Amino acid sequence: MNQSEQNTRKILVTSALPYANGSIHLGHLVEYIQTDIWVRFHKMRGHECYYVCADDTHGTPIMLRAQQEGITPEALIERVHEEHLKDFTDFNIRFDNYYSTNSEENKELALGIYSRLKKKGLIEARTIEQFYDPDKEMFLPDRFIKGECPKCHAQDQYGDGCESCGTTYSPTDLINPVSAVSGATPIKKESEHYFFKLDQCEDFLKQWMQTGHKGNNSAPLQVESSNKLEEWFESGLRDWDISRDAPYFGFEIPDAPGKYLYVWLDAPVGYMSSFKNYCTQHNIDFDKWWNTDSETELYHFIGKDILYFHALFWPATLHFADYRTPSKVCVHGFLTVNGKKMSKSRGTFITARSYLDHLEPEYLRYYYAAKLNERVEDIDLNLEDFVLRVNSNLIGKYINIASRSAGFITKRFDGKLADQLDSDGKNLLDEIQGKTGDIASLYENRQFSEAIKLIMSLADLANEYINDIKPWEIAKQEGQEEKLHQSCTTNINVFRLLTLYLKPVMPELTEKVEAFLNIEPIQWSDSSQLLLGHTINKYKHLAKRIEAEQVTAMVDKSKETLQAKEEHSPARHGEAQQHPAIADTIEFEDFAKIDLRIAKIVKATHVDGADKLLQLTLDIGEPEGKTRNVFAGIKSAYQPEDLEGKLTVMVANLTPRKMRFGVSEGMVLAAGPGSKDLWILQPDEGAQPGMKVK
Ligand SMILES: [Zn+2]
Repeated sequence: MNQSEQNTRKILVTSALPYANGSIHLGHLVEYIQTDIWVRFHKMRGHECYYVCADDTHGTPIMLRAQQEGITPEALIERVHEEHLKDFTDFNIRFDNYYSTNSEENKELALGIYSRLKKKGLIEARTIEQFYDPDKEMFLPDRFIKGECPKCHAQDQYGDGCESCGTTYSPTDLINPVSAVSGATPIKKESEHYFFKLDQCEDFLKQWMQTGHKGNNSAPLQVESSNKLEEWFESGLRDWDISRDAPYFGFEIPDAPGKYLYVWLDAPVGYMSSFKNYCTQHNIDFDKWWNTDSETELYHFIGKDILYFHALFWPATLHFADYRTPSKVCVHGFLTVNGKKMSKSRGTFITARSYLDHLEPEYLRYYYAAKLNERVEDIDLNLEDFVLRVNSNLIGKYINIASRSAGFITKRFDGKLADQLDSDGKNLLDEIQGKTGDIASLYENRQFSEAIKLIMSLADLANEYINDIKPWEIAKQEGQEEKLHQSCTTNINVFRLLTLYLKPVMPELTEKVEAFLNIEPIQWSDSSQLLLGHTINKYKHLAKRIEAEQVTAMVDKSKETLQAKEEHSPARHGEAQQHPAIADTIEFEDFAKIDLRIAKIVKATHVDGADKLLQLTLDIGEPEGKTRNVFAGIKSAYQPEDLEGKLTVMVANLTPRKMRFGVSEGMVLAAGPGSKDLWILQPDEGAQPGMKVK
């Protein structure tokens, strides 16, 4: 351990604020569990580390959801706050403060940032034309307008982009737009909006990306994120619309009545205000943590979908409003379950609560830790692998070390550990203690999966030792008392060390172990000591295996509850789930112009840099083995490997279209509202590639 590591660091850590409009699910928990493990590790090391978060409470979806429920937005966000906090608490995620963005502190800080940016000439008023719902008398956010895609003419597409062909556009480009709030035809209306001039922050952002907070030469971003920023710089930074018109649930701008701060401006300020609220209660100097030359560290954990906000807008607004910038933005990927996007129909869209109703929270913490790394990668919760890893590694390798040794200490030695160890035992413990530094660096660098791998390899060593000694045999032999005593003492010490290493991941299990070993809460530095001549308590059952039925029950339950919920409550984001109107009547000749063919998906691959597209190679029986290249906006619903070999239907005579990634030579047909709920058409058995669909 070097000198600087021994010094107490001051670290403020955040996770992204969950939106106060829905339940926490296993996808969210990847981030909170990752952050919580990292924070617990630093607390265990004796650093001054705080973990704050809050509900993100503003914006149109919450306003509309409250209206639909016939309650005030305040009542809605209070109820959701309670639910979120209970879910987090039950997963042993320990925030030092869990607050709300609808708070006095947040109002003061957010409006303060706005006025500082304005003074610096970074806010500009511009008149823009926007869709307005004449029935609801409100401007409509992009996601609340639906209509026909101007490019591929897919129906029922959102105002910000087509999920069918992957084109992005502005809502005013939609054909036959409809308000998703009232069903009315929106009208175009002018309004004055405030824009944050992000393009003027480019030099600063480029520098921050290289040298970090205070130019201390510690890169704040992972390589994947830096590459993404380079792309954004190349395509040019666009100014950011930071105001919304009434009616809006948020903070009204004092010098502009009827104008509100856009929710994405005040949401990250929630990191500051949650901490400010904590500082007031605990007599901490808030400014010391947030002024420009703060010596403290600031870590944000986020998902890859909100990088733009956290790596461009957020550092820029902080810097130009005279606050410190983040030390690091730690980005993780998304969760898949059994290799696929979480799906309501498959029962793999699992809420925190339905997991807790069936399984131990710390098993999920352990599994996520065993999968998480420092890169921006998706992680997969494979439910079979989950059961296997918990049962064979956690219980079979680690818990077993205690259960195989503790009984002898209690029965034969009155619960007292030996005063000294034999050389084999000492060597084993030396080896395990020798890994403390490696394990610490792995935690520090968020290489949790490597840490777990190393810890489990130490558990393997311990089990080999036990199998060599065979305490259950020497216990029956005369004159082997000392050997039995010393080897079981070695095992208990191994168990204590492994527990110490696993403590950030499994704090609740650790508490039980501490009670069993009759010791104070263990700190990281305790790894240099051993327990000798110490009396432990009688071993009680510490953890039980997962039965496969528990997992099945959870998946079945997730299917049921979500079906029930969908029938009784409005859709997420408050979109009306409408049946799209039947289009105008056409003549048969119009239909006959479309050449539909049975196509075999020969190959399906991801497209680098495309969020919604998969690249398909289609065989439609054309001569000389010619195939078609098609980009299809079905990535959120399918994995490439699920598609290969399947038959579907394609439009074979569509004008080829040049896209950013290449030329698309047709279109495959799919049904459903979009995103995860999308199903490609499949012909009945017997159809062959190239057959005409009539
Ligand atoms: Zn389209």
